[in-house]
This record gives sequence, C-alpha cells and structure tokens, in this order.
Amino acid sequence: LLGSNGQLRPTIFAEMSALATATGAINLGQGFPDEDGPIEVLDAARRAITDGFNQYPPGLGYPVLREAIAAHQKRFYGMNPDPDREVLVTAGATEALAATILALVEEGDEVVTLEPFYDSYAAIIALSRGVHRTVALRAPDFQPDPDELRQVVGDRTRLILINNPHNPTGAVLSREFLELVVELAHRHDAIIVTDEVYEHLTFGTGHLPIATLPGAWERTVTISSGGKTFNTTGWKIGWLTAPNRLLEPILSVKQFLTYVNGAPFQPAIAVGLGLPDAFFTGIAAGLQRKRDVLSAGLTKAGFAVSRSSGSYFVVADAAPLGFTDAAALCRQLPELAGVVAVPISAFVSDENKGEYASLLRFAFCKHVDVLERASAQLADLR
Ligand code: PMP
Ligand code: GLN
Repeated sequence: LLGSNGQLRPTIFAEMSALATATGAINLGQGFPDEDGPIEVLDAARRAITDGFNQYPPGLGYPVLREAIAAHQKRFYGMNPDPDREVLVTAGATEALAATILALVEEGDEVVTLEPFYDSYAAIIALSRGVHRTVALRAPDFQPDPDELRQVVGDRTRLILINNPHNPTGAVLSREFLELVVELAHRHDAIIVTDEVYEHLTFGTGHLPIATLPGAWERTVTISSGGKTFNTTGWKIGWLTAPNRLLEPILSVKQFLTYVNGAPFQPAIAVGLGLPDAFFTGIAAGLQRKRDVLSAGLTKAGFAVSRSSGSYFVVADAAPLGFTDAAALCRQLPELAGVVAVPISAFVSDENKGEYASLLRFAFCKHVDVLERASAQLADLR
C-alpha cells in the first residue's frame, strides 16, 4: 500500500488511464462508460443550474435527493429508510466508504473484506489504523468459502465490508453467504458495510441488498452511487443508508471531508432514481450484451475468461497465452495490442499477489464496436 517514500501509492486507475492517453490505446482499464446517461438526468442538471441549485446544499444532501433515495430503496428492495435521519448524500461512494471507515474503526480494530478488494478500502483502513483481514475470492467463480469467513471474523472484528456485485471479479454473492455475514456480525457484534454501487448492473440474477435480510438493517451501512447507474461517474454523487445511530458518527466525519458536494447534480440524480423500471432493466440488458461480446473476444484471443455476473468487469487469465505476470503484461499491452487493462494484483495485498499473478481485469462498459476492435487487436497476442 505504501510506496518506498512512505506515501500511499498512486491508484492503478490513474496510472492505467494515463498510459491509455499517452499511447492512444483502447482504455479497458479504468471503469467508466464511453457514453452519456439518460437525457432526463442530464437535462435536470442543466435545469438545476438555471434554477439556482448552486450554493452549499444541506449537510445531509438536498431533501429531494434523500427522498428519491428512500423511494428507490422502497421500490426495488422494500426497504424503508427515513429520508431525514437514515439517508446521507456523499461525494461518491468513495467518500461514503472513507467517512464510514474513519468514523467506525479505531486503531487496532479489524476490518474484514473480500480479496481482491476495491483499492480505496485498503487505503482508508490504513489511514484509520485498522487491521485489514481478508477472505479470498478464487478463480474461476470467485465465490468466498464460508469456512474462511468463519475463521477470519472474531471478537476483534469491527466491520465486515463486502462489495456486491463485486469489483474486480464480477461475482455476485449468494444469499447463503450474505446470511452468514449477518449471523457472524451478530455473534461478534460487528457492523456490516456493503458497497453496492453496481446494484443495477447484474446479469440474470437480481440484486439482494444484505440490509434486507432479517436482523441486518440495524447494524448495516449500505453504500451506493449514481455514477454507474446513470453513466455519470464524474458527478460524484453517492449516498449511504443506515440506522441513525450509525449515520450520526459517519456524518460527523463527512462534514470535515467535503462537507457537501455537487449541488446541481443532486436533484438530477433524484430524477434518475425515479425513472421507470424499464430504464433499470434496459441498462443491465445492454451491459450484458457488452459483457458477452468482450468475454467471447477474450476467449477467442486465448485467455481463460471467468464469468461475470455483475459490474463493469470481467477477469481473464493470461497464463494460457504464456504470460504469468499480468502486471508486466498490462504495461506492455498498449504496445502489443493497443489495449489497456488492469492487473488483478492491484486489488490484492502484497502477501497474496502470487495467487492472482496472471489475472487481468477488463472493463466492458464501452461501445460494442470498441469492444470488437479491442478483441480483434488482442487476438494478435498469440
Ligand atoms: N466502490 C466500487 C466497488 C467501485 O467500483 C467504485 C468505482 N466506481 C467506487 C466504490 C467509487 O464510486 P464513486 O465513483 O461513486 O466514488
Ligand atoms: N471504480 C472504477 C474502477 O474500478 C474507477 C474509479 C477510480 O478511478 N478511482 O475502474
């Protein structure tokens, strides 16, 4: 996590996007879509600027957005968060994660995550002086072993932080595993934090928020974001829902991170959250087709490709092509194939990098013709 100068290392996403810009390669590294989201949402942001949503919003976020978040949780999942006490708008899911971990973790507390993990988790756990423990997700299906979770969670565990659907593996966690998380959180008096930014991007399976399981809500912080659902990753409008006793300490940290953000984007995301069901099923179907195109292309190029059940991402093993070091391959890939990808080792702690050494993550949230072009270029690797 720390570089040789003692500072946090640069995030892999900045490094790989810079490589794509410098080389002109197709960027399947950083996960962001290459088209704008729904026109209703874009227009609502333009309107909000004209209508004067340009000063600091309230600390919790504008009521119109908090109400839309609560209504969305009810419509899709039957949840009933109180928009005035149990919903907090944040600067992306990133700030929600940071404020939650910084607020709830004391020096020496253990935080359990799945591994590979989204890179900001390890950084914020380190900043809060927590101890990071992990449960492995292994190729090819990347489902966690329940016994490993039982072994890792204990009385020192403060947070169990899950990510479902999962970045970078595309795994969707089973109901049984989620039930076990709730059971262990109760047994060891731990808090569950769940990062569900890809909640609407699942393929064939619906999304099951862990907070809806019996006994979960009262100890769960649910985090999401408008970036992925509405193709607005640069707007950085995220949120969390949690019982008030958890939300209050998180808010007390959040007020000194950004205080508030994105005034005109808040009412615009509220419009997005209220779009008809067909919009939400449509984005998943469109993305599923893209997953299929890229997965087929990578398979044809000689990679061993895992099945992605959700998110923007698919994992491919380069070992069958004779490449055992994906980090080295990713640095060469612009030259070899005109494509940028991210090594899975960027999402793994140093001691476990070996197990994931030959795996790469490709983002498929791009136009089909871009994915086809990338596939054709990668076919020359053999
Ligand atoms: N969590 C996961 C799993 C992600 O993939 C991302 C990246 N989009 C984030 C959090 C950060 O989300 P945001 O851009 O809303 O801060
Ligand atoms: N979440 C995106 C990814 O996993 C990128 C986020 C970022 O650039 N920090 O690619």
